[in-house]
Amino acid sequence: MFDVIIAGGGPTGFMLVSELRLHGVHALVLEKDAEPTRIVRALGLHARSIEVMDQRGPLERFLALGRQYPLGGFFAGIDKPSPDRLDTAHPYVLGIPQTTTDRLLAKRATELGAEIWRGCELVGLSQCRAVRPVSRRRTSAHG
Ligand SMILES: Cc1cc2nc3c(=O)[nH]c(=O)nc-3n(C[C@H](O)[C@H](O)[C@H](O)COP(=O)(O)OP(=O)(O)OC[C@H]3O[C@@H](n4cnc5c(N)ncnc54)[C@H](O)[C@@H]3O)c2cc1C
Repeated sequence: MFDVIIAGGGPTGFMLVSELRLHGVHALVLEKDAEPTRIVRALGLHARSIEVMDQRGPLERFLALGRQYPLGGFFAGIDKPSPDRLDTAHPYVLGIPQTTTDRLLAKRATELGAEIWRGCELVGLSQCRAVRPVSRRRTSAHG
């Protein structure tokens, strides 16, 4: 029996389930894809995301696998000076493919005791007192 069920095993779902686990909440992530995607969408983390990773714990793992770029001129190679006196301990962009980000966040979530069920799609939910208010279906043999 889970206190919280999260639909979607992307960075948001994995980060959220880790936060819930840090507060002792019994939580599950349902991910419809049987395997992690190999498509790289995001190419890096910006200062605020890096700060959050630092505050919540997993930053060292990201720094070990990422590459730091100065802030100025990073976007589309536009020649722009780095902004002065940014109020952050992390004034850089961390280049790291989203596939790696997803993997690191999923690993941390399971280390914290979260369950991740791949190949399970949330197909409906209802508010009731029943034991199973959530409907899911297998999208693969792993589900
Ligand atoms: C082409 C492209 C390029 C991008 N480039 C950048 C970039 O350069 N830098 C940057 O910072 N960001 C970039 N982004 C944005 C970044 O990829 C997203 O912000 C990030 O993936 C959002 O994370 P998420 O967890 O909210 O959603 P997602 O990563 O989309 O994860 C959602 C997950 O939920 C699953 N799901 C959906 N419905 C269900 C259901 N009913 N039941 C179970 N599972 C379900 C999906 O399979 C998916 O795995 C890009 C996005 C795209 C599309």
